Amino acid sequence: MDHFLYKDGALHAEGVPVAEIVAAVGSPVYVYSTATLLRHFRLFDEALKGLDHVVCFAMKAASNQAILKTLAQAGAGMDVVSGGEYARAKAAGVPGDKIVFSGVGKTREEMRAALLGGIRQFNLESEPEMERLNEVALSLGLRAPVTVRVNPDVDAKTHAKIATGKSENKFGIPIARAREVYAHAARLPGLDVVGIDVHIGSQLTDLEPFRMAYRKVAELTEVLRADGHDIRRLDLGGGLGIPYTRSNEAPPLPLQWGEVIREEVGHLGVEVEIEPGRLIAGNAGILVSEVVYVKSGEGRNFLILDAAMNDLVRPAMYDAHHDIIPVVEPETGVEQAPIDIVGPVCESGDTFAKQRVMPPLVEGDLVAFRSAGAYGAVMASEYNTRPLVPEVLVNGDQFAVIRARPSFDEIINRDSIPEWL
Ligand SMILES: *Cc1c(COP(=O)(O)O)cnc(C)c1O
Repeated sequence: MDHFLYKDGALHAEGVPVAEIVAAVGSPVYVYSTATLLRHFRLFDEALKGLDHVVCFAMKAASNQAILKTLAQAGAGMDVVSGGEYARAKAAGVPGDKIVFSGVGKTREEMRAALLGGIRQFNLESEPEMERLNEVALSLGLRAPVTVRVNPDVDAKTHAKIATGKSENKFGIPIARAREVYAHAARLPGLDVVGIDVHIGSQLTDLEPFRMAYRKVAELTEVLRADGHDIRRLDLGGGLGIPYTRSNEAPPLPLQWGEVIREEVGHLGVEVEIEPGRLIAGNAGILVSEVVYVKSGEGRNFLILDAAMNDLVRPAMYDAHHDIIPVVEPETGVEQAPIDIVGPVCESGDTFAKQRVMPPLVEGDLVAFRSAGAYGAVMASEYNTRPLVPEVLVNGDQFAVIRARPSFDEIINRDSIPEWL
């Protein structure tokens, strides 16, 4: 459920007409709903009620500080995957003890910054990383709280680019080697081993892979405890999928995911962390774009938008589907026809949808890409020297620009010309 609905024939973001936002900010523009963000966060929080738990928003999905602050004020922690994200979370007022640091390639500098600024835990992904963090922590006279990410070798049955829990993926250590690796970690005086971490992929639409992974982690918890490790925290990752089309089957709900967690690890007396990203932000954002041209081709028509693959890369990168709806509600019974919906970038990959059945649209009409709140603005680039799309946050009847569109000068002036030119 989200808060982008037609009212009196006009698409609204909560109480604000989307067309009003475009009139003020221009097109294209990302628009987020506070109510949807909070609703989704609370679904996870409630799903784990009764368990000692923290919901850490995987901020790589949507990292604007206004979004982070909205969620942090509701009690969310953050899962960060880079020094930049760590700095952003801190700038948004998230305390260090609610920030979890994930990612396979943490550098010395990133480790230092997080240790000095405060961190809930590092999720370690390899033995070299373990050695490195030990060194950095000792050099600062600190002990780093850590989990080790185990790779449970389960098939998440999702798109290959976002599956992370098979043994051939680069993530974590094979679960079969966990005892050895934990023994190694326990010998390093700069590390404080607090638990186990697992994350098997993104956009999962079936609970069984989660169940299988969590069962293996629960077994491992008992084994490691018997080996003398004080396993008191399990980070169970994120990855629950969202419905990108209203026609296909709805993925499981956070409540059902919470049930699986309870059933598989509830008896262990551990603190549980989860790291949902997509399900919190995905349906809480839309990308609004204007029709620049309607072009008739050889047996095919094209809707050419002012948004492109650099603004929303998911269709080009993951073959992802986004529902695209007109901002002015089509009249009931209006004749619809298939059309290719494309951006202006000179690549065939700059295609949002092929032969999508749409109501008639003309130049100047606005459309909205639904479910664009996660892995949308954060993956945008300035390819073709197209300015990063501005972001707007709606809250009830109010809206605010939370990232302005840069001017051409701002973009161009970031280049510097060597003196020999
Ligand atoms: C990407 C990622 C997440 C979030 O995944 P979603 O599918 O957005 O919920 C959580 N944890 C880790 C380690 C990740 O890499």
